[in-house]
Amino acid sequence: MAKFTKTLARGRQESERDPEAILARELGPRFMAYRKRFWSAELGLRPEIPLHLDVDVATVCQLGCPMCPAGREAGENPFPGFGLFLDEELYLSAVREAEKLGIPSIRLGLTGEPLLAPDMDLWVLEASKRGFLDIALITNGQLLDASLSERLIQAGLTRLMVSVDAVTEATYQTVRPGGDYARLLANLEAFLEVRERLGSRLPVLRLSFVVRADNQAEAAPFAEKFSGLADYLAFQDYLNVVGRPDTDLGLKPAKALPENAKHRCPDPLTRLAIHADGGLFPCCSDFGRLAPLGNLATHGLKEVWNSRRALVLAGSGGRLSAPCQACLKASGHLAPSERANGAGGGDGPGQGTGQGTGPKGWAGPNPRALAELDGQAGRPNWVAELEGQSESLWGEDPWGGSGWGKSGCGKSGCGKGLLN
Ligand code: SF4
Repeated sequence: MAKFTKTLARGRQESERDPEAILARELGPRFMAYRKRFWSAELGLRPEIPLHLDVDVATVCQLGCPMCPAGREAGENPFPGFGLFLDEELYLSAVREAEKLGIPSIRLGLTGEPLLAPDMDLWVLEASKRGFLDIALITNGQLLDASLSERLIQAGLTRLMVSVDAVTEATYQTVRPGGDYARLLANLEAFLEVRERLGSRLPVLRLSFVVRADNQAEAAPFAEKFSGLADYLAFQDYLNVVGRPDTDLGLKPAKALPENAKHRCPDPLTRLAIHADGGLFPCCSDFGRLAPLGNLATHGLKEVWNSRRALVLAGSGGRLSAPCQACLKASGHLAPSERANGAGGGDGPGQGTGQGTGPKGWAGPNPRALAELDGQAGRPNWVAELEGQSESLWGEDPWGGSGWGKSGCGKSGCGKGLLN
């Protein structure tokens, strides 16, 4: 991907290209303060509130992309909860609490197409009124006509993320069956015209390309075609989230980490995901949907954020839950010995806490957050109790080592790590 990044860098000044720089200019010092907090959280300083919400507005889609569970028939779908729209009242309860807590960032759209839900501009407006600083929306762009673009811009959208994945109609039909490539291009042009007419620099426009075996030849032409149009481009490796042989379209197997690798997942340190049934989850990954933390109908955001489950997940970097193990394993984020023996282990040094023992590769929980929870400094007993019970914490490993190729996102250009 480096060569595409270079192509982009040649296209414009870096300060104009860098979405963070644009947002910092447009949104002021509060934005940079939020970003610094976010990066600190990823390094282990877990804040008292989530800094970002991923909102799964709809788990339906009008396209039938083979890599995405949303377009699958129920019997073929490995994940629960498809065919739903998030209840507006649940959304409003979440953003009201977020306003009280001061959560700075939100993204609408996760597994399905959010613009299929009516009044998405009003949802953006509500987030804006409730004090969210950074408001993103991810879409396939098919319904993004000039009128909707205008309403979204005026409502306060700060990032528009559009999945493209092709430069020809034929390839677009392969990657995104049911979509209309000409309509997508017309919608993107209309969006840019409206943004210019309104004199707005926001939302920044991200166009994404998930590189697969059947579209890789169009990756470089995509960079050429769109680098002058988008504020930035995003390239991702394809991940076989659906997990079927006929959706195994990737270019290379999951990478292997060195034996002493200490990867931990940063998502439970920074965000909560809200699914279309009101469920609360630690991340935007499909695997994360099998690690429920609560539901908006019965739990508050802060309550769930500071729950024992959420803290264990955050402190262990995902190594104490079966779905996270499946995710880490499939994406090549477990060291070879952990792959062979299962994640965790409990006999490694307790890194980050200076006490006792801990799972291998564990960076350690944030002592401040844990002390707040248990009224004691350092590592509480319940972490030790849970070690070795990784398979039972969230139930059986749903894949049972059955050969899911790769993991997490990458199915639809959602761009984990590229948003936040
Ligand atoms: S499912 Fe994957 S992305 Fe989500 S918290 Fe677990 S390890 Fe992280």
